[in-house]
Amino acid sequence: MEKTINTDVKPMVELRHLRPWSFSKVQKAKRCQYEFYWNYVEKREPIEKADFLILGSGVHFVLENALKVAFKRERPLNKDLLFYFAENFKKEEPLAKLEKIVEFFPNILRYVNGQLRRASESKVIASEMELAVDKNFNVLSNFSSEKAFLRGKLDFVFSKGDTLYIVDHKTNRSREFNNKIKTQLRWYALLASVRFPEFRRFALEIHNVRYGTVGRLIFTENDLKAFRTKLLPVIETLEEEFVGKVFEDLVPSPCESNCRWCDFRHICKMASY
Ligand code: SF4
Repeated sequence: MEKTINTDVKPMVELRHLRPWSFSKVQKAKRCQYEFYWNYVEKREPIEKADFLILGSGVHFVLENALKVAFKRERPLNKDLLFYFAENFKKEEPLAKLEKIVEFFPNILRYVNGQLRRASESKVIASEMELAVDKNFNVLSNFSSEKAFLRGKLDFVFSKGDTLYIVDHKTNRSREFNNKIKTQLRWYALLASVRFPEFRRFALEIHNVRYGTVGRLIFTENDLKAFRTKLLPVIETLEEEFVGKVFEDLVPSPCESNCRWCDFRHICKMASY
């Protein structure tokens, strides 16, 4: 007998949909439960990506590859190589506008060649470092491990003396060091402090590629212990709010700031923008 599949049955939220937690996943879970569900439980693809997100991904791609190659070759780069990386990005993302990515090249070159001088003696140096820890904050060698509880990708990391520098590249127009960014930086520093316990200080730098500026915050081991103590109850509460719920149990949070850039406005009956 032919089986009929009921496509209206929506899956229940399980712990495996929530963990591993990343900074952005926590932000999404706190922002709107509907958006979170469609993103992480049903794993729906957004209907289209905003231009600024594609541009940001393209600039990140060029910058990460430029840093990797510069440190491997141990010599400064030129623009030709940046074009090569940008063209490779366009092959994966046909909607990318090369002429927009190219506008960032002078700042990318200045940054990469400057870091080459600044970090050449570093004991630790990496671009795109993936870090994951389990529930007891043991470092996991596999970023995609089923045991992963928290994880994060650090754009650029290097060391000087007893300080580990962790750099996050941004392409947005904001020059602010707001609370959201500070929390994001603490998240990265916490993961790095577990992976590299030999460092006593963690210098978190926001490199704004649009303006060619670098802002810095310093965290000590005690700052990170305090952050960990605050973070765990937040995650516990989120897990209690989601696990075992079906879509009908969830509560959306429509408002202009949440809905404006939401990937699921086209299917959401509650969208307010
Ligand atoms: S459109 Fe608004 S209410 Fe609907 S899922 Fe997105 S953020 Fe939530």
